[in-house]
Amino acid sequence: MLNFTVGPVMSSEAVRAIGAEQVPYFRTPEFSSIMKENEQLVKEFAKAEDSARVVFITGSGTASMEAAVMNVFDNKDRVLVINGGGFGERFAQICQIHDIPHTEIHPAFGCDITPEMLAPYDGQGYTGFLVNLDETSTGVLYNIQLISDFCLRNGIFLVVDSISSFLCDEFDMKKLGVDVMITGSQKALACPPGISLIVLSKKAVDRVNDNHVKSMYFDLKDALKNGERGQTPFTCAVSILLQIHLRLLEIKDAGGVDSEIQRIGGLARDFREKIKGLPFELVSQSMPNAVTSLRPTTAKAFDIFTILKDEYGIWICPNGGELRDTVFRVGHIGALTEADNTTLVDAFKDLQKRNII
Ligand SMILES: *Cc1c(COP(=O)(O)O)cnc(C)c1O
Repeated sequence: MLNFTVGPVMSSEAVRAIGAEQVPYFRTPEFSSIMKENEQLVKEFAKAEDSARVVFITGSGTASMEAAVMNVFDNKDRVLVINGGGFGERFAQICQIHDIPHTEIHPAFGCDITPEMLAPYDGQGYTGFLVNLDETSTGVLYNIQLISDFCLRNGIFLVVDSISSFLCDEFDMKKLGVDVMITGSQKALACPPGISLIVLSKKAVDRVNDNHVKSMYFDLKDALKNGERGQTPFTCAVSILLQIHLRLLEIKDAGGVDSEIQRIGGLARDFREKIKGLPFELVSQSMPNAVTSLRPTTAKAFDIFTILKDEYGIWICPNGGELRDTVFRVGHIGALTEADNTTLVDAFKDLQKRNII
């Protein structure tokens, strides 16, 4: 199997080996110290301030999106939501469910946001901002500097879903003044799905502690308190946390977050170079390193996905809903190499020879 989806992605052999082992009991000093190290390394890679904290939620990325929104906003906030695709839509839905007053900004399909799109909201009393840095559904990387400047200028609390951009695109939580950053285990961390992570600035930690949340599992006060001793309030996905630990150390040993970003950026550039001449158009005007969104011009996107899966043992990432037949995506995260890119591009060329595309 060769997996070019955007999650779950291919894991290294060492990460998979941990998955084959017995799950250890976790209320131990040994596990606590691994968790403390996980927190430290995630903070380092997110370029968070020293006083920031990390919460590990057993649940997919959406669990942390919802937990973050519930814990840092309430019905007295006014939140701006960038909704340019499936994940932006999810943030809007979470606000709706939790009665958080919000306004949606809709960038055009496949497009970045512009200063003109934010201008009407300057000085209007907004208190919060939600954005998916890489809107993975369409493969658009938003201009985080523009958003950061807008939020700092307006004293707005900024929550960034970096689930598919963490370790892929440059991000400096402290410099950008980001208050909350969210990521997940099954994207560039290249571990199985099941853990999502919330990095909270000192300001965010204070908000969590002052907020009243009507939830047991998602009350982050409890998670922060337990985290002080490297523990979680409830049974966590222990093996995945051990796999994350190994991955973070792998990245550190290979030169740290900047090297990992370069490696993934290199794979993305290599793929984009190799597909020149194939009957695909780029969907996004502002491409992230994690994924390339493509519109095939001679065949249905979902048919290409199915044929590659069934006849070549290669998975690209299909789109759902209205984009099912028009767009597919190719991920550049996980244990992939330039040789793997060549294998995929050769399969595309074979489809061309067979007049399928
Ligand atoms: C993958 C992803 C998520 C999380 O989705 P889950 O299926 O809940 O893990 C959220 N936001 C973005 C931008 C993503 O790419």
